[in-house]
Amino acid sequence: MLLVLDYRNHSRPWRPCRGVSRLSTGSATEAVAEFRDRARTWLEARAHRRTADAPQRWGEGEFSVVVFHDATDDEERAVLDAYRDWHRDKVAAGFGAIAVPAAYGGGGLTKAHDAAFKELEAQFDVPRDHELISVTSKLIAPTIDEWGTPEQRERWCRRFFQLEEYCCQLFSEPGAGSDLAGLTCRAVRDGDGWVLDGQKVWTSTARIAQYGFAICRSNWDVPKHAGMTAFIVPLDAPGVEVRPIRQMSGGASFNEVFLGGVRLGDEMRIGGDGDGWKVALTVLGHERASTGGSKRGGGYDELVMLARHLGRQSDPLIRQGLARAYSMRKVREWVRAGAAARARATGSSGPGGSITKLMWTVEMAHTSAVAGQLLGPALTADTGEWGTFAWNEHVLGAPGYRIAGGTDEIQRNIVGERVLGLPREPGEDRTLTFAQSLSNVRGGTR
Ligand SMILES: Cc1cc2nc3c(=O)[nH]c(=O)nc-3n(C[C@H](O)[C@H](O)[C@H](O)COP(=O)(O)OP(=O)(O)OC[C@H]3O[C@@H](n4cnc5c(N)ncnc54)[C@H](O)[C@@H]3O)c2cc1C
Repeated sequence: MLLVLDYRNHSRPWRPCRGVSRLSTGSATEAVAEFRDRARTWLEARAHRRTADAPQRWGEGEFSVVVFHDATDDEERAVLDAYRDWHRDKVAAGFGAIAVPAAYGGGGLTKAHDAAFKELEAQFDVPRDHELISVTSKLIAPTIDEWGTPEQRERWCRRFFQLEEYCCQLFSEPGAGSDLAGLTCRAVRDGDGWVLDGQKVWTSTARIAQYGFAICRSNWDVPKHAGMTAFIVPLDAPGVEVRPIRQMSGGASFNEVFLGGVRLGDEMRIGGDGDGWKVALTVLGHERASTGGSKRGGGYDELVMLARHLGRQSDPLIRQGLARAYSMRKVREWVRAGAAARARATGSSGPGGSITKLMWTVEMAHTSAVAGQLLGPALTADTGEWGTFAWNEHVLGAPGYRIAGGTDEIQRNIVGERVLGLPREPGEDRTLTFAQSLSNVRGGTR
């Protein structure tokens, strides 16, 4: 998915693990205020404070409103390495993986400690975060913590929380995106193990990650949500082929992943045979909770700078567009803060993640529209002028997030059903087996 999303301001709601929660309740831990003081001192000794989030001045420094970085695999790895080194320093000092269970080398502290550190860290120039870090440590590791066996937790949780290895998401298929439960990548029992066959698509970072977290169809003769199983797939296993897909914004962060007779031991299955949908929902819940707060891609501040440079700041239509951009950002920040506070208190962000994700993508689309109004043809032809053609990267990248992590329409469905209490979308007959519904709806076969 991303390339690079700035997750520093995101707070991730931890779900309690099945059975005994391994998260600290904070009762016997350092008070957040003291922790914050200690963290500030530590950060000040190691990183430069940002010269405020003051708006950039025209023509000064590097201008970037990029949404998806157009980077080579080596450049991606360099970003990951730099972040991992920074993460290790933090872990050694007790400021990395703050709310991660101590059993996995984390701080074992509370989400409030984690949020306090992130808030402070955002004020410093520190290595850039990367999507794969977030997917590995905030989506997959907690899912394994929740669903894995003790051996699986031992094998992967520490490594994933500590960023020693990375894991991408092998969910979408050519015929299954929004309707993920329609997936047809098959997992067939073979002796003590499994054989996987099928195709995944839009897999971000699959050329860099060591593992993929795959949801596959293991039973066609039960209703579709009941016939899936989750696996961890080593991406260097025989039968795995990863092919890059070029994006319109220039980079090739996506991939197609072909699984041709990939053999896995049963120890690579996460959750029970048939639990794949519930496991996928756990991953997606973590994903929704962690998107929607990025400052990356620019917005109001950069638009104001551009309008001033072009002498258009008094144009009533432009002023209207700028006022709207400002309002959208502010309201999103407030909604996000409210959702994060609720998540800290209850352990679940509920539909809050859908609301902020939707607000973020609508805001990015509006930002693109105002940039287009201001720049006209300079958006499509590079005149070499600082701070102009670079908006092209925003305009071409922003639509990706209307799709990634659940499309705008799907988020609207969630908000409609869970917040507004509207009737649920009509679903298919849940008594049909997947094989029957496939042949009814698509005229397809296994
Ligand atoms: C930047 C990016 C990164 C991604 N990274 C990954 C990744 O790492 N791993 C992975 O597995 N996948 C990834 N994806 C894939 C992504 O999850 C899917 O593209 C997404 O779920 C939509 O599925 P689809 O593309 O099949 O579109 P479809 O589901 O076919 O949707 C097509 C259109 O129909 C609309 N639609 C569909 N169903 C409904 C409905 N019920 N109500 C209203 N409208 C509906 C959609 O909103 C959309 O406009 C990524 C996608 C992007 C853009």
